[in-house]
Amino acid sequence: MADDDLRPGETTVDLPPADDARLRFIGRLRTPFKTRGDCPRQGSFDGPECRVELDPRLAPALDGIERSETIELLYWLDRSRRDLLTQSPRGGRELRGTFSLRSPMRPNPIGSSRVKLERREGAVLVVRGLDCLDGTPLLDIKPVRCDHARRRPSGTGPE
Ligand code: SAM
Repeated sequence: MADDDLRPGETTVDLPPADDARLRFIGRLRTPFKTRGDCPRQGSFDGPECRVELDPRLAPALDGIERSETIELLYWLDRSRRDLLTQSPRGGRELRGTFSLRSPMRPNPIGSSRVKLERREGAVLVVRGLDCLDGTPLLDIKPVRCDHARRRPSGTGPE
């Protein structure tokens, strides 16, 4: 069974071309995972070292990132089908709605992971805790804990 084949009972929808948002890939995630079968379902902090290769033109935007022990990565699960309404997780009998799952197969296949930041090497972050295929496009990087925001009363402006 190929990765994209429907399982018994799974349902899909025909939608017009996806063009509501224009995102820019800002880099690539380099992982040891070459097939979906190699990927963990969710990463963990004791997983292998992975590289977040940011577009070098954006490197100054990383300044200060070392203050965060954990960071949140948003990425585009680019090898996912996007038409599934219901799915049977892990090939089981139960059918669940796509939005009740963290499956990679969703209308907008955005993945997010909190990862442990090991070190920065210029425009590259070395992290642990990823679960995606090698070469997965990167959408955004955010600190999990934002020190300056914690000191400020809530609701007083953007973080
Ligand atoms: N941690 C993210 C989340 O919760 O949003 C992703 C979780 S998703 C269950 C992780 C799975 O997506 C992996 O085990 C693999 O099967 C699949 N996957 C990883 N990289 C992918 C990619 N680039 N395109 C499609 N599927 C991918």
